[in-house]
Amino acid sequence: MFDFTLARYKDLIHNLISSGYRFFTFASFLENMGTGGKSVILRHDVDRSPARALMTAEIESGFGITGSYYFRCGSYGFPKELISRIEKMGHEIGYHYEDLCINNGDVASAVESFEKNLARLREIASIKTICMHGSPLSKYDNRDMWRTRSYRDFGIIGEPYFDIDFDKVMYLTDTGRRWDGESVSIRDKADKDRKSITEGSRAEHQLRLHSTRDIINALKNNQLPDQIMLTIHPQRWTDEWVPWLWELVSQKTKNIVKSIIVKRINNKKA
Ligand SMILES: [Zn+2]
Repeated sequence: MFDFTLARYKDLIHNLISSGYRFFTFASFLENMGTGGKSVILRHDVDRSPARALMTAEIESGFGITGSYYFRCGSYGFPKELISRIEKMGHEIGYHYEDLCINNGDVASAVESFEKNLARLREIASIKTICMHGSPLSKYDNRDMWRTRSYRDFGIIGEPYFDIDFDKVMYLTDTGRRWDGESVSIRDKADKDRKSITEGSRAEHQLRLHSTRDIINALKNNQLPDQIMLTIHPQRWTDEWVPWLWELVSQKTKNIVKSIIVKRINNKKA
């Protein structure tokens, strides 16, 4: 079975369920904090191809589970009908904000645009949480808009990068079209005080998680911790071979470019 197909995605969800994990949206995880047990916070960053998000949403709905879907504000606004359909299935909708990058690092303009976009999204769905978009090509980090302001002032109860204790919650993301893509990821990594916790928790469990098969094997061997944030980019997961091949080739190229950028950043730091 090829990786990053919807068939493989179903396989992953099935194995998480049969290993005893319960699924939470990010908002419900925050509201149920302390209940313990095996939990997956299921997060989707809808970077592009929103229609693919409908496919993962339907699959999850078929399994009787729900997750959080973070939408970016495109030039035509948010994909209204699609968002309503996903919310009706019981999934949480959130804002995948990139206002600081769009406003070239100007915090005042970023906050203004954040407020406006949040209001537009709230006309479609109920919004409790937000999550930053990594904006790999920008020199700005969207999270920096919260150095002087608080998203809580906008009725937001959580932002994963600030409100999850990654010492306790393992971070798994398909960034880079692989599960160990931190080396090529510029910002989409769980970092506490900007240090990657993922590598630490993996070293502790001596895990090599590259393919989805590796995660499934680790689940079968009971090697994963009780709490996991699983981040999916729905555009990567498809059973149609042309888009599947396109994702494979374009992501491999992007990974090469990103690793050059990461090396340059590290050289500057050194
Ligand atoms: Zn994103």
